[in-house]
Amino acid sequence: MTKVSIIGSGFSSLSAACYLAKEGYEVSIYEKNDTVGGRARQIKKEGFTFDIGPSWYWMPDIFEKFFNDFGKSTKDFYKLDKLSPAYKIFFSDDEITIGDTMDKICDEFERIETGSSKPLRKFISQAQENYDIAINKIVLKPGLSPLELITKDTVTRIDQFFKTISSQVRKNFKNPKLISTLEFPVLFLGAKPSKTPSFYSFMNFADFGLGTWHPKGGMYEVIKAMRDLAKSLGVTINTNAAVEEINVLEGRTNGIVVNGETIISDYVLSGADYCHSETLLKPEFRQYSDAYWNKKIFAPSSLLFYVGFDKKLSNVEHHNLFFDTDFEAHAEDIYDNPKWPEKPLFYVNFPSITDVTMAPNNCETGFFLIPIAPDLEDTEELRQQYFDIIIDRFERKTAQKVRDNIIFKESFCVKDFKKEYNSYKGNAYGMANTLMQTAFLRPNLKSKKVKNLYFTGQLTVPGPGVPPSIISGKLAADLIKKHQSN
Ligand SMILES: Cc1cc2nc3c(=O)[nH]c(=O)nc-3n(C[C@H](O)[C@H](O)[C@H](O)COP(=O)(O)OP(=O)(O)OC[C@H]3O[C@@H](n4cnc5c(N)ncnc54)[C@H](O)[C@@H]3O)c2cc1C
Repeated sequence: MTKVSIIGSGFSSLSAACYLAKEGYEVSIYEKNDTVGGRARQIKKEGFTFDIGPSWYWMPDIFEKFFNDFGKSTKDFYKLDKLSPAYKIFFSDDEITIGDTMDKICDEFERIETGSSKPLRKFISQAQENYDIAINKIVLKPGLSPLELITKDTVTRIDQFFKTISSQVRKNFKNPKLISTLEFPVLFLGAKPSKTPSFYSFMNFADFGLGTWHPKGGMYEVIKAMRDLAKSLGVTINTNAAVEEINVLEGRTNGIVVNGETIISDYVLSGADYCHSETLLKPEFRQYSDAYWNKKIFAPSSLLFYVGFDKKLSNVEHHNLFFDTDFEAHAEDIYDNPKWPEKPLFYVNFPSITDVTMAPNNCETGFFLIPIAPDLEDTEELRQQYFDIIIDRFERKTAQKVRDNIIFKESFCVKDFKKEYNSYKGNAYGMANTLMQTAFLRPNLKSKKVKNLYFTGQLTVPGPGVPPSIISGKLAADLIKKHQSN
């Protein structure tokens, strides 16, 4: 049997492991941490359940397709609920609630700007066309050649690759609150909306068209489902297994070193952060220099707080965005002039509002996230200072006192991203999807210097986020199959 060693156990590695095992490969996963899931792990403490990374379950079709490829359905593993409302946005002078249907969203747009529902329907209909092209055609390509991007559909939309989402939204909507609402989805791609091609409006269709879902028990249920599927297909999963080296002999990898032990393998696939994976090779076998990585636009890092409250909270939904300060000023502090933001925007989720399994009775599980530039100074004092800022704002905007009801609190920031995941500069969501960092312009799935060595995950093709990471695993598995059959 052909042996494949996979580094890491995030979404991309688990996905690749399942596809390869299904094809008859002998697959072993080596994960440095003591549990699987990577950035999507979960903390369960004092009755509270916190997903420590992803919380927005978007693009349910991609998850379904993944399980269908193995003759299964998401339903075989977890229960999905469509959230209603999907989320709420707090602005300085108003709140916008995004419902679970286009009709409800159109009503809300009309309330803010009379006549805005008409351009909204048109915008989302175009976004849906882009979604169909992106998801069914483009993201399934391995990013090996620019020709992959040239299709009848993309040629007729070429202008959408050179205009930005920001300019397209501003052309159709004038109200700043509606503009921020429509620019929010592309933030998942890791760059400023003014640097993200308007073709990526497919994220708006994912948001308004497909909706926001919640797997009962939290996002970690998806990791558990993929882990169980992998095991049922014969994958061996090793935790507390940090890979120390990728061995190369005569231009081809013949295995890895884990906790001092050499594991002979026919193929090695790394789902760990790409730049870290290359440091496991001797310098002559690395494809990308420090200067290369340093020039790239990385998605933000984050300051995160996992907070347990001893009461139920009011005036909030499952997902809440606090856009009550200047969006542009915060984006500048992340991308243009990296520094701790003066007036941070932040995001909070309370999964226990819709899912009682996530918190003890009459308690609330809260996850607070401030996006920040990668590699900022990270100290306990700074973390506490920002916690105080956002809790004060949270209390004011939601008109309730919560500070004295905190019975659990942990934080996670740049230092933890580096230590826990070997993350480059402590990035949270990998490398941004800008025009110059799309498809064949991203770090390669296949090493150009070492035969039989492959990469997967949010720093390579197609990009950051859970659905793209699942697809990335499939693409890497397909390349390995193709290589072996040649
Ligand atoms: C705070 C946060 C919020 C997010 N929110 C969302 C969201 O709401 N929706 C969404 O779709 N996406 C979201 N994302 C992005 C999403 O979580 C990621 O894109 C995805 O989980 C990345 O998966 P991956 O397989 O590429 O990498 P990872 O999950 O990082 O997996 C890599 C694994 O490799 C391991 N590893 C590293 N070095 C070694 C080594 N030497 N040996 C062995 N193992 C090693 C790491 O421990 C890790 O387990 C969020 C991310 C974060 C951090």
